[in-house]
Amino acid sequence: MDPVSTEHPQRERRGLLIVLSSPSGAGKSTIARKLLEADPQVSMSVSVTTRPQRPGEADHVDYHFVDQAEFDRMKESGEFVEWATVFGYCYGTPKSPVKHALKQGSDILFDIDWQGARQLEPDFGEHLVTIFLLPPSMQELERRLRSRGTDTADVVAERMRRAAEEISHWAEYEYVLVNDDMDECLARVRAIVAAERSKRTGQPGLVSFVRDLIGPAH
Ligand code: 5GP
Repeated sequence: MDPVSTEHPQRERRGLLIVLSSPSGAGKSTIARKLLEADPQVSMSVSVTTRPQRPGEADHVDYHFVDQAEFDRMKESGEFVEWATVFGYCYGTPKSPVKHALKQGSDILFDIDWQGARQLEPDFGEHLVTIFLLPPSMQELERRLRSRGTDTADVVAERMRRAAEEISHWAEYEYVLVNDDMDECLARVRAIVAAERSKRTGQPGLVSFVRDLIGPAH
């Protein structure tokens, strides 16, 4: 069954901030893309970064690419809901799309690391859903990183070191999935989203809905 079909988007509900973290190579971008394709109530948060644009990446789609001065200006003027330095570059989540999504009661997906998830907790805890994807094994992760193409053995070794560092934060997440089968993993992510949307506390619109169902006397 499609988990979305059990929901009633016309009723007021609290938007979710869905954080998806994993080491690179664990399949996070594929899962994120497929979730967005499958679920029109979820939009993607596009981060701002000082990291140079990679081949195949589009400005304002994959990231908003900026220089350090612009990043610092945005940071100083409070334009980020969270920001962090990741492997030498700055990354930040712009505030306005988050505010907009929450106002609409729609959901927003973040591909950010553990530092970002931690910073969202105090301000957005009641909206926050944190999911960590683990690779089935470090051998499989290394195989996936190698199969990406032209990286030297040194670069792959450095990525494996970073992966171990990212994975060491797994226990800070509410949901932890082992991505050994992409379809199964996506189904679980969608089930998590469906369950989170069904929480009573996330559906203020239920009060009037139930009043209409059974009348004000109850
Ligand atoms: P990459 O440069 O490979 O796209 O991303 C490197 C790492 O930075 C990934 O783990 C990604 O999740 C994380 N990241 C991307 N955008 C943000 C952001 O806005 N905030 C934080 N805290 N991490 C981010």
